[in-house]
Amino acid sequence: MGCEAVIRIDPTRPAFHTERGLLKTPDSSLAHELAHAVAITHGAFLPPDGDNFEATYRAPSREEAYAWIIENMYRREARYSIRNNYLDNAATSFAADPSDSSSGIPLRHLERAAVEHFRRKAAAFVTELERIPEDVCPYNPFRRHRWTSGARSAVRSAGRRG
Ligand SMILES: [Zn+2]
Repeated sequence: MGCEAVIRIDPTRPAFHTERGLLKTPDSSLAHELAHAVAITHGAFLPPDGDNFEATYRAPSREEAYAWIIENMYRREARYSIRNNYLDNAATSFAADPSDSSSGIPLRHLERAAVEHFRRKAAAFVTELERIPEDVCPYNPFRRHRWTSGARSAVRSAGRRG
């Protein structure tokens, strides 16, 4: 069970670059905060759990990592620089999908975990993200991991029943 979420954002704040070259804009921040809002309203918010997550994934918590992945989907679509990882605020080119090697973390593993988390908690959200066409949003872990474990086993068991 979730609760209401309120996003406070200043759309007139000028865009700027971080010291490490990442373009920050009100709309990229809104995309990030909307990911948190979906989590909060669906009872899917993940507070930091002290599992040494930060050392492996360069984000303070799964919650921030998942919001950062969704922010990067928007960044890729908007042709903004990609946020290389959460903590560094460093940029990589908008023109390449974030990867394990560009981010320096086990990103594919993290993406899969994000997709499965939202699939369990906010299935309609996942369905909508999966539908975004590749020419609109080339970086789309929700489309890429559409048939990974959870969905695939659901299809298998449905087939067995049918
Ligand atoms: Zn955040």
